[in-house]
Amino acid sequence: MKSEIMNTENQLIKIFNGKIIAFDGIIENGVIVIRNGMIESLNGDNPDIQNAVEIDANGMYVAPGLIDNQVNGFAGVSFSLGGDELTVEGIEKATRELWKTGVTTYLPTLTTNSHEKMKENLQILVSALSNQEIAVSIPGFHLEGPYINPEDGYRGAHPLPFVRLPDWDEFLELYEAANHKIIQITLAPELEGALEFISNCRDLGVAVALGHHNAPTETVTEAVNRGAKIATHLGNGAANTINRHKNPFWSQLADDRLNISIICDGFHLLPEEIKVFFKVKGPEKTILTSDVTSFAMLNPGFYTTQTGETIELREDGLLHYPEQKCLYGSASPLTKSIEYISEVSGCTLPEAIRMAGFNVAQVLGLNTIGEIKPGRRGDLIFFTVENGNMYIKKTIVAGREVFTNI
Ligand SMILES: [Zn+2]
Repeated sequence: MKSEIMNTENQLIKIFNGKIIAFDGIIENGVIVIRNGMIESLNGDNPDIQNAVEIDANGMYVAPGLIDNQVNGFAGVSFSLGGDELTVEGIEKATRELWKTGVTTYLPTLTTNSHEKMKENLQILVSALSNQEIAVSIPGFHLEGPYINPEDGYRGAHPLPFVRLPDWDEFLELYEAANHKIIQITLAPELEGALEFISNCRDLGVAVALGHHNAPTETVTEAVNRGAKIATHLGNGAANTINRHKNPFWSQLADDRLNISIICDGFHLLPEEIKVFFKVKGPEKTILTSDVTSFAMLNPGFYTTQTGETIELREDGLLHYPEQKCLYGSASPLTKSIEYISEVSGCTLPEAIRMAGFNVAQVLGLNTIGEIKPGRRGDLIFFTVENGNMYIKKTIVAGREVFTNI
């Protein structure tokens, strides 16, 4: 049977017979009413909903839409590097493909590049936002770099020639090009001028994340004092030869104010790392991020990067340089992180869902999403779990059905 997307736009919607994932547990047979794209009630009294479009969740889980703060690209579309030029159509395609994986909100992430290229790509992203259907899923952008530690290991796959010191004037130019939509930046706090830059970001309302760095504890503490909120993909973006005592893992884990984002794709972190990180930060301060590249959703095989290197995408989702036997990046959607952290940390499903949505929404000040609650936006996903795998069956964004596989 062919699945067809139902036209639910601007409709009164009643969803029933679902296992609703709330903060503190799962509500069996819950009823959600969405009016004008917003959640009106959860298991409430709604006498006047006779004309509602009814959606039978048929015993499936119903959760808030997933939120991913680090999406470098998707389904062949890259927001920064990549072989093809970035286009508005490409951004629309990536967004539609993300909906199929349950992501209803994401931050297109631009990694280190020349000033001109970053500016150009930000302008193209801004143009894509004139399509309201897409714009609703993109509250802003994330710059990862170019102000990161240039040393091998810490720099990761960011191209050395474009790594530079924090430059507030340059950033403001990018911020203008982005129509003030840069809402997160990942930087290295030990760089000259970085701490002042962090204060400026705080004043502007841009969330600062620490990443690709090797800052001493005092600098991490001072960065957090000045408003830094997240440690970006903790456990990655670091050299293999770090000092066993003095390294950013300990300092960032030990600072209770700092949230951590982690890539739980089964390749970037070992189960024991995830288990310990989760034990330290808990379901309140852990953020699941895919850090996914344009190679996600492509067929397994060999590909050539923009810089001419050969990489392999394996059937199991590993994306690596086959010769060097090291990772190139991630190709797994955010659902994989939910599956994997559930498996290795013992967290509950509601906790995993919270870590893949609500937590990052709060950190970024996106207060209308991430929760199934009256007054929140009608962003919902329907899914099943079989043998630990999560299957997205339906996605609704602001009350509009954008994907169905039922
Ligand atoms: Zn990174």
